[in-house]
Amino acid sequence: MLLRVRPFPSFPPLSTSRFSASTHATTAASSPTTPTPPPPPQPAPPLVETALYIPPGVAQDEVSMDMVLPGSNIVIGPYAGDAKVKSVEFVKSSAKAKDCPRDPLGRPEFAVLGRSNVGKSSLINSLVRKKEVALTSKKPGKTQLINHFLINKSWYLVDLPGYGFAHAPRSAKTDWSAFTKGYFLNRDSLVSALLLVDSSVPPQQIDLDCANWLGRNNIGFTFVFTKCDKVRASKGKRSDDNLKKFQDLISDHYQEPPPWIMTSSVTGLGRDDLLLHMSQLRNYWDQEVV
Ligand code: GDP
Repeated sequence: MLLRVRPFPSFPPLSTSRFSASTHATTAASSPTTPTPPPPPQPAPPLVETALYIPPGVAQDEVSMDMVLPGSNIVIGPYAGDAKVKSVEFVKSSAKAKDCPRDPLGRPEFAVLGRSNVGKSSLINSLVRKKEVALTSKKPGKTQLINHFLINKSWYLVDLPGYGFAHAPRSAKTDWSAFTKGYFLNRDSLVSALLLVDSSVPPQQIDLDCANWLGRNNIGFTFVFTKCDKVRASKGKRSDDNLKKFQDLISDHYQEPPPWIMTSSVTGLGRDDLLLHMSQLRNYWDQEVV
């Protein structure tokens, strides 16, 4: 049975302050130091109801803020674990979706996609801690291949062609539709996509289009904001402003929050947390797929 991560609808505005130390301090301060009767059950705060991504295995009313990964809206639940990358092997480059490896063991995979220059190769290299597993591209859109990497001999990371390159010939842009969409529509072993969004530039329509396309086709995805080390982005805008604008733009299109996480391949921000998030999606998928 194919089970995809549930589609994620209403994407709330980003407010990292929601996850600030003061929130934890409030929680900690309410812990009694001497035995007292347990407090009456409290309704979940609005944040939990509206903004967090709550994974399988977690009930909404049992979420506490220390279950939320830093710099994200992702709650970590009982399926999380085994997030270390111990080995990585390049498996295959495929020029067509139908040429992608068929794994007799049915091992699950995550697809990484985003606009050209979003930092996809850098993020993949950072996740697997190798300098050149995914060669950092210098010529946007040059290679239109689907690259499979086997991690820990148990799951795949799939590097998809970048989209929306400014200088690519029209044929290359068109190819993305047939080629990458073909991959998504026919890949039973896909657990989830990681949709990379460059936090150092204002929201781009093509990223929203991509997110909408994935949503329409019931393909689970996580927004991975890249380059979050760049405090000041172009045109004097802070990265935070870009993120908030991005989330505001898509908030109308979703009824439940998609998972999102801030990363930097320069500082390593979000790397371990993203792997932990992927582990819970993967372990749940492993259990559910017959
Ligand atoms: P790709 O085309 O999506 O594979 O993007 P690359 O990984 O080749 O990165 C594009 C450019 O962005 C390169 O100049 C990288 O050095 C830079 N870059 C990638 N990730 C980061 C990051 O996290 N922070 C910063 N400051 N620059 C980054």
